[in-house]
Amino acid sequence: MSEGAMTERVDAVVAGAGVVGLAVARALALAGREVLVLEAADAIGTETSSRNSEVVHAGIYYPKDSLKARLCVEGRRRLYDYCASHGVPASRLGKLIVATSESEARALDGIAAKAWANGVEDLRPISAKEAQALEPALACTGALLSPSTGIVDSHRLMLAYQGDAEAAGAVVAFHAPIVGGRPTGDGWSLDVGGAEPMRLECGLLVNAAGLGAVALARRLEGLPEAAIPTAYLCKGSYYSLAGRSPFRHLIYPVPEHAGLGVHLTLDLAGQARFGPDTEWVDQIDYTVHIARAEGFYAAIRRYWPDLPDGALQPGYAGMRPKISGPHEPAADFRIDGPATHGLPGLVNLFGIESPGLTASLAIADHVVAVAEGSVRT
Ligand SMILES: Cc1cc2nc3c(=O)[nH]c(=O)nc-3n(C[C@H](O)[C@H](O)[C@H](O)COP(=O)(O)OP(=O)(O)OC[C@H]3O[C@@H](n4cnc5c(N)ncnc54)[C@H](O)[C@@H]3O)c2cc1C
Repeated sequence: MSEGAMTERVDAVVAGAGVVGLAVARALALAGREVLVLEAADAIGTETSSRNSEVVHAGIYYPKDSLKARLCVEGRRRLYDYCASHGVPASRLGKLIVATSESEARALDGIAAKAWANGVEDLRPISAKEAQALEPALACTGALLSPSTGIVDSHRLMLAYQGDAEAAGAVVAFHAPIVGGRPTGDGWSLDVGGAEPMRLECGLLVNAAGLGAVALARRLEGLPEAAIPTAYLCKGSYYSLAGRSPFRHLIYPVPEHAGLGVHLTLDLAGQARFGPDTEWVDQIDYTVHIARAEGFYAAIRRYWPDLPDGALQPGYAGMRPKISGPHEPAADFRIDGPATHGLPGLVNLFGIESPGLTASLAIADHVVAVAEGSVRT
């Protein structure tokens, strides 16, 4: 960082040290840029990046050519390689998407067609018998097997991104919320709050503030109203399973509108958890309400009838940073650069819900390309 006459100036600032902000910081630093990550909290990944399913998605559900589809498929391939070369625990457990009725069995055909169109070539339909041979506890009328779906230790992944970024010269500052900003002609002047409020100038600002991205955008002077989406919150609660998991694969029902349905995932220690459900809410509140357990028992018993009474224990909850409401079609990721909002030196990331963890390396390279102007969005 160079000392100006009055104000410090840094080449690039990333707002937010979640998995996406850290991946972006890493990519910018490896591209030779001087990077400062400003994080409001006291540690990396305290919000959505540590409140998710930790699933490495194959890229099955998203509309063809959407950013979600492209960045998930590319990000997933790269993520497994990255984890292998950086000692980040990850495992390709494979996943079954299970139909429990005739209409759901028909829906599997549409899901498979989408997956193949997205380049998920190894996904294949299997019969109920084949599914039960893989998972004897399962009840279903048919299934899709996705061998390339897996799980990852998201915290270790973030630590690896942070380590790479710092090794390439990036600095991560905590207790440093960006509370305002204005364009300077050749970048941004930022107001940083927290314990030691300060003003800072940068050539590039990447807004990777997750649930706070829309609020931060509103505090950036000169950003047209039309360039800022409406933020919605869709909570997802998890319950953990007492005792041993009856399944070795990840088990997903046919997806619903705002989420992927109450599915079973396993962590790297083999512990099973169910979730997330979908609950549209007005404010961030991570309490897992016991009253929702009933809906979980009903949803899970459709594909696992033997789920014992009392086996579910409240786990944790996450908030999907949605930019489409309950009655709207699901929105794509938005990675908005100057071609969208008209302001140089600014990239806004909006709606980075699932599969943002899987796609993080690909999102980061896309952000760098948008910032350099080689991709115009
Ligand atoms: C219930 C749920 C399940 C999911 N499951 C999966 C999954 O299985 N697989 C998958 O690939 N993806 C999954 N996702 C999506 C994935 O978790 C997210 O896409 C990803 O974590 C987003 O990372 P992020 O860095 O954008 O946001 P965050 O992790 O939320 O980080 C944003 C950071 O910005 C900081 N911040 C906010 N405002 C400011 C400010 N003004 N100044 C400075 N800092 C600020 C916050 O403190 C925070 O640390 C899931 C999401 C949810 C909600």
